[in-house]
Amino acid sequence: MNAPLVDFAGLAGIHHVYSGKAGKCTCGCAGTHRYSSAYREEAGKARGYALDDGDCNDRQVSKVVRLLTAMLINGNAHDEGGHVWGEADGRLYIAYRD
Ligand SMILES: [Zn+2]
Repeated sequence: MNAPLVDFAGLAGIHHVYSGKAGKCTCGCAGTHRYSSAYREEAGKARGYALDDGDCNDRQVSKVVRLLTAMLINGNAHDEGGHVWGEADGRLYIAYRD
């Protein structure tokens, strides 16, 4: 089972995150989108084609959620409703709610 995610500002249920270079395109050409394994089937339907093993990484999802939770607490992350994002050390992190 997945490790429990930190519960803060609605980030507990996050199952899709992005990590990439700050200031660059977020389509995946300058970083990676990662999904929790529990969300694999739904995410494949949502994006239109199935996820492979490399698209799912529960540890990476947890890591980005923890980073963004800390950034939210410090006022360094931005809650846009559908997603929360923040930059640290030249990298952009996003946690998607939808
Ligand atoms: Zn791109």
